[in-house]
Amino acid sequence: MDYDVKSHLHEVLDTLPQGVRLVAISKYHPNEYIEAAYEEGQRVFGESHEQELRQKHQSLPQDIEWHFIGHLQTNKVKYIAPYVTMIEAVDSLKLLREINKQAEKCGRRIKVLLELHIAEEATKYGLTLDACRELLAAGEWREMQHVQICGLMMMASFVNDEAQIRQEMQTARDFFDEVKAQYFADDDAFCERSWGMSDDYPIALQTGSTMIRVGTKIFGPRVY
Ligand SMILES: *Cc1c(COP(=O)(O)O)cnc(C)c1O
Repeated sequence: MDYDVKSHLHEVLDTLPQGVRLVAISKYHPNEYIEAAYEEGQRVFGESHEQELRQKHQSLPQDIEWHFIGHLQTNKVKYIAPYVTMIEAVDSLKLLREINKQAEKCGRRIKVLLELHIAEEATKYGLTLDACRELLAAGEWREMQHVQICGLMMMASFVNDEAQIRQEMQTARDFFDEVKAQYFADDDAFCERSWGMSDDYPIALQTGSTMIRVGTKIFGPRVY
């Protein structure tokens, strides 16, 4: 292995305040890199492609908690529903319904996050704040026994402007507080704020992230 995963992993872990978890984003990286992090105690990994995740889940230790972090097509939900721990990027009611349906078939309750679209890039997925408000106000999610909405996820704009990144994350933070108070005040499970990647996780830690998703800084550049 030509990349020192272990020391880079610890560099990230050493900066995490109590209560913040690391999701090690292992997409496009080989099993041996994941195993190196696993040997250091890392158990939560994130992937963004169904087939790649399936292969890794089959060949790696079964106590790994897999988070699906990418855009998920509804027709792929059935493949990951039996084993995925959390689906982080729920960006439509349709997807939420499908997760609920497939989780029911497996006799599971799957943790999910609602993905917010706050960044300026038109390419990013996610619910606008108003779309998220509408989804929650409509209330259908309350009847879904097989999904547990655990919080919010977002990606900041891919820019060098720290002030802009901070502002987007703060917007997500304020929105979390809004919906927490309005819909989840009595629900301790609704507690996760998933933001922060290799380049911006220090800002994420200052804006109340509880879950950072870091890939490149731990595993090196991805080879596509
Ligand atoms: C790839 C990816 C990450 C990790 O990005 P790095 O810059 O490699 O840390 C985090 N979140 C999502 C949604 C991703 O797709």
